[in-house]
Amino acid sequence: MIDRRGRYFVKDAPLYLRPRIDPPLASLLEDAPFLHSLADALGSPLNVLLPEVVAGNAERFRSVYRRHHLAGRVYFAHKANRSSALVRRLAACDPAAVGVDVASLEELRHALGCGFTGDRVMATGPKDAEFLWLAARVGATVNLDSLTELDQLAGLVRKYRLARTDVLVRLSGFESDTGPGGAGTRLLSRRSRFGTPAAEADGLWRALERHADSVELVGLAYHLDTTGLEEKGRALERCVLLMDECRARGLAPRAVDIGGGFGVGYVEDAGEWQRWTTALSEAVLGIRPPLTWRGHGYGLRNEAGTVRGTAALYPAHRPTAGPDYLDALLSRSAPVLGRPPATLLLEHLHDLFIEPGRALVDQCGLSLARVLEVRPAGDAPDRYLVRLGMNAGDVSLEEHGVLVDPVLLPRGDPGHGPTDDAPVGVHLVGNLCLEADLITRRLVFLPRLPRPGDLLAFVNTAGYVMDFHAHHAQHQPSARTVAVTRDDGAGGPWRWCPDENYWPLTHPQGVPS
Ligand SMILES: *Cc1c(COP(=O)(O)O)cnc(C)c1O
Repeated sequence: MIDRRGRYFVKDAPLYLRPRIDPPLASLLEDAPFLHSLADALGSPLNVLLPEVVAGNAERFRSVYRRHHLAGRVYFAHKANRSSALVRRLAACDPAAVGVDVASLEELRHALGCGFTGDRVMATGPKDAEFLWLAARVGATVNLDSLTELDQLAGLVRKYRLARTDVLVRLSGFESDTGPGGAGTRLLSRRSRFGTPAAEADGLWRALERHADSVELVGLAYHLDTTGLEEKGRALERCVLLMDECRARGLAPRAVDIGGGFGVGYVEDAGEWQRWTTALSEAVLGIRPPLTWRGHGYGLRNEAGTVRGTAALYPAHRPTAGPDYLDALLSRSAPVLGRPPATLLLEHLHDLFIEPGRALVDQCGLSLARVLEVRPAGDAPDRYLVRLGMNAGDVSLEEHGVLVDPVLLPRGDPGHGPTDDAPVGVHLVGNLCLEADLITRRLVFLPRLPRPGDLLAFVNTAGYVMDFHAHHAQHQPSARTVAVTRDDGAGGPWRWCPDENYWPLTHPQGVPS
């Protein structure tokens, strides 16, 4: 073929980014008739959750604790998903092992209604007075965002005669002494608008002493929005050192809360990810046809023949994510004290708290969309526009920079014309009258051209993708959410119920055993 500048190029091999799919989700996808019947009855888009998987993930995090002989809780960061089924299933886990991290008054009410007692709840994020009052009232641990919030909480506890409240203080902007040869202090973690800079910790300690009648410091916390093990390892070590400082002053914190951000691997194959990202750079340079809608570069640009900028993309293939990432973080040597964080925590008898969101709901669900229309894209002879019964708010992959292919679930017999099985590049567009309503700006390769009536399954969407940005623009329906379960000894039929009807009982719909 010849491109616009008259150069020859070989027609693209499909650049797949096929998803990583673990067994429960894989066997659900194999039951295409079941998924089609759900979407027929409940409409498109449709979110499908597997509550048993979230319990399995919590157990995998717990096994990392056991391997390192550590005590402490796994707090699910509720903000990753609005579902009741997931929170109820977690509420049914060992109370000493699993808690929930809530970031708003409504998330707190929801968690309590799902069966979490207050002592298993951690309140994070910036808070208003009502949120602080209810958290203190039910005996939740308040993860304080700032000194102002500490003053406000202490004031509420006194004024309304609430019980002394357990608090963590969230720190950020970690610095460390670069030693005798160094130039004083160095910022070791990115700035955050949340938490108190570690350099201002002194003011916090004084305030905690002043408010000792109404709050009790139970630990130090951080949450860093990075995938860097190095940065997180340093912050963890810094917290252990600051804990010593607290103890020397007579405060008695006993837990280090290292937040979330353990990550998820979305794309199965490292080679596919490598090829796609390389091809993106080549497309930005103009040495291959665009891989995206109107040549969008995901933050990369061509400056006189050189690629500049950084791609605003989630690292979709991750060899080490979730519980394995926690294990790696705990095992690698810390820079100042020279020993792994797990050893430091154990020696100091500190509990470890974690707040996984995305990683705890890994493989817990999928989002279904009906194919409504298929037509030539016009920008290249072999590309198509595929319009779906969903919009970019229903599956916010782009918003989070997550690039992964959907799985095509044909309706009935796929048929076998000569071109039916040829891979094809498609642009997935949404159901809004908005040029920008693209499910993904990336050209997606599918093993064959879909037909109206087929379903596309976006897998592994439970973390932030399925409902974080859902809205009601144009009165388009937002997705219903269902929970699916399967009788013990897999192989039995899938059962489903609306998310809000799910309770973690063996026979949720009163089916006799
Ligand atoms: C969002 C958030 C989390 C969860 O982050 P993930 O990347 O989903 O694990 C945990 N703690 C705090 C304070 C957060 O804001």
